[in-house]
Amino acid sequence: MVESSAFGSPKLSVQPDVRVLGAREHNLQDVNLTVPRDATVVFTGVSGSGKSSLAFGTLYAESQRRYLESVAPYARRLIDQAGVPDVDSITGMPPAVALQQQRGAGNARSTVGSITTLSSLIRMLYSRAGDYPDGQPMLYAEDFSANTVQGACSECHGIGRVYTVNEQQMVPDPSLTIRERAIASWPTAWHGHQLRDVLVALGYDVDVPWRDLPKEDRDWILYTDETPFVPVHSRLTLSESRAAIKAGVEPSYSGTFVGARRYILDTFANTKSASMKRRVAQFLTAAICP
Ligand SMILES: [Zn+2]
Repeated sequence: MVESSAFGSPKLSVQPDVRVLGAREHNLQDVNLTVPRDATVVFTGVSGSGKSSLAFGTLYAESQRRYLESVAPYARRLIDQAGVPDVDSITGMPPAVALQQQRGAGNARSTVGSITTLSSLIRMLYSRAGDYPDGQPMLYAEDFSANTVQGACSECHGIGRVYTVNEQQMVPDPSLTIRERAIASWPTAWHGHQLRDVLVALGYDVDVPWRDLPKEDRDWILYTDETPFVPVHSRLTLSESRAAIKAGVEPSYSGTFVGARRYILDTFANTKSASMKRRVAQFLTAAICP
């Protein structure tokens, strides 16, 4: 390893080996061993023989424990701690980074930084070594995290991508009427019928071609975030529905309207069904968050 001396000229230094005495973490039975430094070292053995207990549970845990002693208590809680290993002594231990094998693929919020926990250390560095402009209060490590409310971007909530929808995708054929499923992104079957019935109850004509509806109406149907809950008469045209209301006909049921964009975004974010998610995803355009 090449290191800089106090006078700035590089010198070659030989690192002492790492010596482990009396390791008893998990299933290890008083193991003593010497691990050379600056070399690739492999622990092999049958399943359950203690490879991970030695590498992660003992060597890495001890390295991390020593490092954390130099860290303020409030900052320690930001780091996943490996705990104190059951071992008599370890000498020659350098600072260590552990990359565990990944079971599962992380999630949408995972980054190289979060999976390796390096982002925790960088956040801490920013919060403690940062220079703040006049009038800027002290920032905490959490303020630099894309996974906390105070740290995340308010546009993308820390995901780094924003999703948009547009009319051409949701209504690919504007010559169709709403009853003929002009809004392709709407759910199929009963929920689609319900949204159509609710629109009729709200006074929209679902039997004229989409392109002949006033722009104000088209925009409301696609983009509103309002969710009116109204009594409806099932499967009627606008004029039949008005006549039914006038005649005092008992409504079939009450239904909630959800705008087409809101339906796509809510379903994409919340559905447990992979096929529903795939279906609405085709109406979304993803872009890097500005
Ligand atoms: Zn963002």
